[in-house]
Amino acid sequence: MFRSLAGRAVVLASLCAAQPVLAQRASTEVPASAPITGVRYEVTANREGLGQHQLHVVTTFGVAGTAPVVLSLPAWTPGAYEIVNFARTVGDFGAAQGADTLRWDKADYDTWRLWPKRAGQVTVTFDVTADTLDNGMSWTKPDFALFNGTNVFLYPEGRTTDFAATVTIKTEPDFLIATGMTRASEAHTFRAANYHELVDMPFFVGQFDLDSAVVSGKTVRFATYPRGVFAGAMRTTAWDQIKRSIPPEVLVFGEVPWDSYTVMHITDSTFGGMSGLEHANSHVDVSAPRGNGSEFQPSLFAHEIFHAWNVKRLRPADLVPYRYDRPQQTGWLWVSEGITDYYADLALVRGGIIDTKGFYGLTSGKIGEIAAAPPFALEDASLNAWIKVRDGTEALYYPKGSLAGFLLDVMIRDASDNRRSLDHVMRDLYQSTYKQGRGFTPEEWWGAIRRASNGKSYDEFYRRYVDGRDPYPWDEALKVIGLRMQADSVPRMGVSLRPEQAGGVRVLELVPGSPALAAGIKQGDVIVSVNEKPAADVFFAGGFRAMYGTKPAGTPIPIVLKRDSATVNVQVPLKYGAGQPALVEDPAASPRAVRLRNGLLRGITDR
Ligand SMILES: [Zn+2]
Repeated sequence: MFRSLAGRAVVLASLCAAQPVLAQRASTEVPASAPITGVRYEVTANREGLGQHQLHVVTTFGVAGTAPVVLSLPAWTPGAYEIVNFARTVGDFGAAQGADTLRWDKADYDTWRLWPKRAGQVTVTFDVTADTLDNGMSWTKPDFALFNGTNVFLYPEGRTTDFAATVTIKTEPDFLIATGMTRASEAHTFRAANYHELVDMPFFVGQFDLDSAVVSGKTVRFATYPRGVFAGAMRTTAWDQIKRSIPPEVLVFGEVPWDSYTVMHITDSTFGGMSGLEHANSHVDVSAPRGNGSEFQPSLFAHEIFHAWNVKRLRPADLVPYRYDRPQQTGWLWVSEGITDYYADLALVRGGIIDTKGFYGLTSGKIGEIAAAPPFALEDASLNAWIKVRDGTEALYYPKGSLAGFLLDVMIRDASDNRRSLDHVMRDLYQSTYKQGRGFTPEEWWGAIRRASNGKSYDEFYRRYVDGRDPYPWDEALKVIGLRMQADSVPRMGVSLRPEQAGGVRVLELVPGSPALAAGIKQGDVIVSVNEKPAADVFFAGGFRAMYGTKPAGTPIPIVLKRDSATVNVQVPLKYGAGQPALVEDPAASPRAVRLRNGLLRGITDR
């Protein structure tokens, strides 16, 4: 999951109106279902239903007798760590065997119980209200539907999730279907090997733009709704970002884990910011129109695609297997989300989407974000994900976890003299846990880091920076790779300004002691020009720094302003002040520091 609102700030708050309900259901409360076989789902997404935000779902399966069948919908969608209870969107529920209607009741929020009359096929039908624009939920327009399997596919309680199933989509002849599911031989039919796979493959049905390319030897599809909004140069740029970010991510793990990958993208003006939700072979983005083509866009793609390995496959043991009926608390989202975000930044610089300065900018932005937040521990922030804390640390396990990844990478490269990196740790755990069919334990995570670091202990690192709230040791760590924090010095007038409709910019406030105040500028004055250039162009297009950023302090700045109806000329002496701290390369860095830094930026180690 990844979401941006103002600027680069990343929050995970869902737009879903539902308040979290922490359904801690003991497994004994709901009886196990009678076994069901041959499960088939059919979802109808036609113009008539879409116009009313409705999907129609038919589930058929076989039973061996009259024992009650107990069926549930998930309470959440993996990756979006909040309890939603999709059963709340279900209406007109019914169950039948041929012409016979079956008795049914609810067993809990998410669960229906029904009584078959005999052995044979059972049909369960219901409607789903699909009116929530959220990448973990279902949403329709008259020509389009997004739905997630967690929203519509029932599973039998207390039985294995290891059942194969097919999904048939009934829709209009001029509608397209995009999903990560494997196509079956029948028309509009797809199959999944088990329930986890089934609910991890969302659907687009309707009229949208769809094209594909081969990246790292496999098909990648780009599906964008509505038609025409993601076109021309913007689409070319998006494709370039996707094509450049995948290969460096493949190199970390040494394999492409999917047969095909689908980027599913919705643009809608009712949505604020940009949000992505990851799956094993697809991801769903929802974006405001201004998000498309934005600076943030390649970070979103690279983040969600990296999740195909980190969290969808390589995952903490706390989250294996997914439990769909309850929150799965974990202290590891700083790895699953934060380190995913570190690798998104690395994919951008290693893939040439941004340059090294861009990477330093993303990193110093995260350092600044954490410096401005109250002290918190990575593990605590991860555990808090489900309850959306309001102490100012919500979702900060993203940037702080990303910085922990950066620190660990530096420390591993330092301890191994650049023969090992965090990349080795990720690949090691991917092979030794995911490939063995399980999640990683804390011992396995720290053990892999210790092995990559020639046996160095990370006990103190864990105690201070993961379980603890100590500030990160930036001076020491940055020196290892020849970087330092520099408080940027920028030309400043010491005024706050607002552009005026009629031209010019109005002085709202003057900083005490500022050169503008000393030169006689007053609150309410309208600045017309700066060195004969229109003031609005100078102050609101970066022009001021361009004009004066390299001039010596004290250089006179000729300013024309209007005060009431009089024109006033003043000369303001140039002064410099501190800007945002920035990460910069240290020109005095040792050759070893430069070697380690280049290793990190390029994804290489020495033999
Ligand atoms: Zn994420």
